[in-house]
Amino acid sequence: MPIDQNQLRLLPSVEELLLTPTGQKLIEHYSRPLTVRAFREALTLGRQEILKGTPCPPRDFFLEGATRKLEEQDLPHLRPLINATGVIINTNLGRAPLSATALEAVARVAHGYSNLEYDLTAGERGSRHDHVSALLCEITGAEGALITNNNAAAVLLALSTLAQGREVIISRGQLVEIGGGFRIPDVMRQSGCKLIEVGTTNRTRARDYANAITTETALLLTVHPSNFLITGFTESTSEQELVALGQKYSLPVMHDLGSGCLLNSEHYGLAHEPMPQESIQAGVDVVCFSGDKLLGGPQAGILVGKANIIKQLAQHPLMRAVRVDKMVLTALEATLQHYRRGEAERHIPVWRMISARSEALGRRVDRWIEQLRDRGITTRRRIGQSTVGGGSLPTETLPTILLALEAHDSQKPLAELARHLRMRPVPVITRISRDTLLFDPRTMLEEQDAEFVQALIESYYT
Ligand SMILES: *Cc1c(COP(=O)(O)O)cnc(C)c1O
Repeated sequence: MPIDQNQLRLLPSVEELLLTPTGQKLIEHYSRPLTVRAFREALTLGRQEILKGTPCPPRDFFLEGATRKLEEQDLPHLRPLINATGVIINTNLGRAPLSATALEAVARVAHGYSNLEYDLTAGERGSRHDHVSALLCEITGAEGALITNNNAAAVLLALSTLAQGREVIISRGQLVEIGGGFRIPDVMRQSGCKLIEVGTTNRTRARDYANAITTETALLLTVHPSNFLITGFTESTSEQELVALGQKYSLPVMHDLGSGCLLNSEHYGLAHEPMPQESIQAGVDVVCFSGDKLLGGPQAGILVGKANIIKQLAQHPLMRAVRVDKMVLTALEATLQHYRRGEAERHIPVWRMISARSEALGRRVDRWIEQLRDRGITTRRRIGQSTVGGGSLPTETLPTILLALEAHDSQKPLAELARHLRMRPVPVITRISRDTLLFDPRTMLEEQDAEFVQALIESYYT
């Protein structure tokens, strides 16, 4: 095809584009080098079009193209979104949202200097763990507490400290994979201890542990299976039995609880999720759990237990590698304060979502339906189920009211609509079930309601 040199000559120069009012505005906002680069890219696109035989695009093509590109690149890659999935603790979506109080505390501490490792009373070096350990001891009844980067790090630190080069006894039914490839047997190997599996997948008795104890045994470990349930002909050894065994043979007992549920889940219509307080009460030596699962705080690993064991862990060289920063500690302290003040259910988003009533959720859905109807979009109420997620209470659900958009009420395929919603500056993450697009208000923050309705309207009509 003959190339139209005249059309190529019509292409504006980068200089010309920079001198336009739009060009000047872009330079001011995004800097000159980034604006130049964006214009060059737009010009390359224009040249390709001409080489395909189309006439030179108008000047606006380059100005708008560069503006769009610069806006896109300016959006943070990690950014807030609207979780309409109904899964409260969703690892892919950042797990637990923080309370407003926790966020304000983080902003105040992170903005300037703090007493992170400074003892204000003594006027000398202090420990970063002191800020939350007293609170954790008060809430769980433990003698000591320690914080790591996450619960996987807490398990690694505890096993490395207590059992390196020696044997750890664990039930076959608890050799679980938590998700994201975190497998208990792998962590045990990584920490240099030898895994002694006892019992069977479905039944492990105290006798099985007792029979496996040798002079090489360092620790009795029990792990909450978290994301699955063994039902039917089952038997597991209670914490009390393990503690009695540990005392008889002078062996420490460790419990990896996973979620760290500080409120009684039964009060919310859910099955009982084991609580750190109960393990401490039973006499378990060291208990670990996550900060961002049912606790509803920042990503962290929390270790609570006997003073002498916590002290040993704090002195292990790995501690330095798995320690947390001031933002995490601040968010954790503020979250724990909600529990101490007995206001967790009102202030911690995870618990506010768990305790939200269907009637209140239904009222929000009704408002959305009305607002969408005003814009010509037909949606309906649908009864559904939310889940806790985060590897906790795997078979439990909470009754909810969903907003449903059925395929025959949509002008475009639902998958395309869902993609549109995902690609927005504030993405909306939803799910499709049997030709219906579903939105669960339980996991959507109320302050995002207006943004959500607008998102649905725009995605529907574009
Ligand atoms: C989730 C979980 C972990 C890992 O915790 P992270 O905080 O994600 O590192 C470890 N053990 C159990 C039993 C869990 O449920």
